Amino acid sequence: MDPLIIQDHYEIDYRHSYAEDSPFFVGLTKGKLLGSRCTACGYTYATPRSHCMECGAPTSWHELPLTGRVHTYTTCHYGGEAFLKETPFTLILVEFDGADTLFLSRLKGVPTPTHPSPLEGEGQGGGGVYIGMPVRAKFANTPTYKVTDVWFEPE
Ligand SMILES: [Zn+2]
Repeated sequence: MDPLIIQDHYEIDYRHSYAEDSPFFVGLTKGKLLGSRCTACGYTYATPRSHCMECGAPTSWHELPLTGRVHTYTTCHYGGEAFLKETPFTLILVEFDGADTLFLSRLKGVPTPTHPSPLEGEGQGGGGVYIGMPVRAKFANTPTYKVTDVWFEPE
């Protein structure tokens, strides 16, 4: 017997809170990238984090520069439903001066590599991205209060 397959329509309004991470998402609407910095040891995160993973002390908000460099990247051939139409696309980890951790984001404005590439050399792998590429944050004109309100493009 073949598996029984049925189809139902499914729709839901999903209401949730960003709680203490809310300033990060509001910052995106103002063209700011807010990381967090430990109030005790100074360890600086490129993401929202209420407490330091190095020493456990609380953090305070810290405005990151809007430019950084590609630390590494990958090509996504599959994604969540919202992104399927955009595949393949490039995800990057951005490194910033003055931050000890990285920021995961989309890279737009350059061809997406279509096959694995070596660690250096612009254009390797068929795409324009390379490790160390200077990039600049871009922000959505109409905010959705999601992390996709920010992405990066070549500087
Ligand atoms: Zn700390």
